[in-house]
Amino acid sequence: MKTESVLAMLEAKHPGEKEYLQAVKEVLVTIEDEYNKHPEFEKHRIIERMVEPDKVVIFRVPWVDDKGNVQVNLGYRIQFNNAIGPYKGGMRFHSSVSLSTFKFLGFEQTFKNALTTLPMGGAKGGSDFSPKGKSQTEIMRFCHAFMLELWRHLGPDKDVPAGDLGVGAREVGYMYGMYKKLAQEHTGTFTGKGLEFGGSLIRPEATGFGAFYFLNEMFKREGIEIKGKTIAISGFGNVAWGAVTKAAQLGAKVVTISGPDGYIYDPDGISGDKIDFMLELRNSGQDIVAPYVEEFPGATFHPGKKPWIQKVDIAMPCAIQNELNEKDAEQLVANGVMCVVEVSNMGCTTAATDIFLEHKILYAPGKAANAGGVATSGLEMSQNAMHIQWTAEEVDRQLGIIMKNIHDQCLQYGKEKDGYVNYVKGANIAGFMKVARAMIAQGTI
Ligand code: GLU
Repeated sequence: MKTESVLAMLEAKHPGEKEYLQAVKEVLVTIEDEYNKHPEFEKHRIIERMVEPDKVVIFRVPWVDDKGNVQVNLGYRIQFNNAIGPYKGGMRFHSSVSLSTFKFLGFEQTFKNALTTLPMGGAKGGSDFSPKGKSQTEIMRFCHAFMLELWRHLGPDKDVPAGDLGVGAREVGYMYGMYKKLAQEHTGTFTGKGLEFGGSLIRPEATGFGAFYFLNEMFKREGIEIKGKTIAISGFGNVAWGAVTKAAQLGAKVVTISGPDGYIYDPDGISGDKIDFMLELRNSGQDIVAPYVEEFPGATFHPGKKPWIQKVDIAMPCAIQNELNEKDAEQLVANGVMCVVEVSNMGCTTAATDIFLEHKILYAPGKAANAGGVATSGLEMSQNAMHIQWTAEEVDRQLGIIMKNIHDQCLQYGKEKDGYVNYVKGANIAGFMKVARAMIAQGTI
């Protein structure tokens, strides 16, 4: 495999799909050497097959708003790869999405899900529908309209969606409700469901908790403690909330959160009722963090700015792709950051990641660090299949084991001669190996 020629082929076939090409390039560059040690991969044209989704579903979603006007959105589901298990991955509702967004997310999901050790293939989907400023009934009507088409592509052993940006327990509830009615079954073909109808304890916290379990494994190797460290977090949604909750439990101090309107700096640290206030901010549906300073006047609001200018020990992007760029990375390094945990999917640009790796900063890529969310979705699927519910302690324990296992897989392929661990390389190769071997075992399909 020659990375350059595969990329040139993809660029010609899919011009303008920026995020997708970025995600593929990042993986190819890191796996090329290992790939070329295995002639069977080339023989089966594994990489040419793996970079294209199995299937793309795009559909129109017409619905009626509160004023009686007809609205039209686009729905997407990218069933990327089901070599190791049923398609699995979240749904994103955001005005900015495109085919490229979902292809990049589905591609990443395939590797991430492989790392979880659970039998889950990769998928992603969603819509350009923006929940911002919409009423509860508009959100319900949209979710129902969306499922009128999507339901036929889903199933408990076929394709199991979940939440992502703009899709939380409320939206999952509406989508699953309509799915259940149309499919005439209740087998849990969605994860992130409410606890009353098959949801799993710890699922809401899982992405943020998992990121800290991964960070803990990285720190353990270095003999560093999380306790007492200062942390900059971006975002204020479900993932950021889980991360802030775990940071407070472990005695670290989170000093920032952010939204599309700017970031909050709270020198006293975000803990206790400040964490609960994050939920209020999110439930307001306004997608802004500025009201935090009215509630907690010790904090300051920095409109239009990102939190990466603050001097902290650990940086954790928890919002959206490419939210931390080259300049931000340079600033963090200049301020002496010791560790960066990418919790959002592709939260760092390629140039930013390269800077962290060049400076030998402890750096965890999203597909390893944020895999706790989908891993706990996998645990929700197991509970649904067994018709039981595990305790929070049991789910949390299994999540801890899975994150440790992901860390160990990264070490297997990411350790360099000088002892530095390139977790990007480690995660990409480990995820790739599993999917590639499964594809070869199943023949040319
Ligand atoms: N959207 C989450 C992710 O990026 C969770 C997916 C899931 O639980 O299926 O991994």
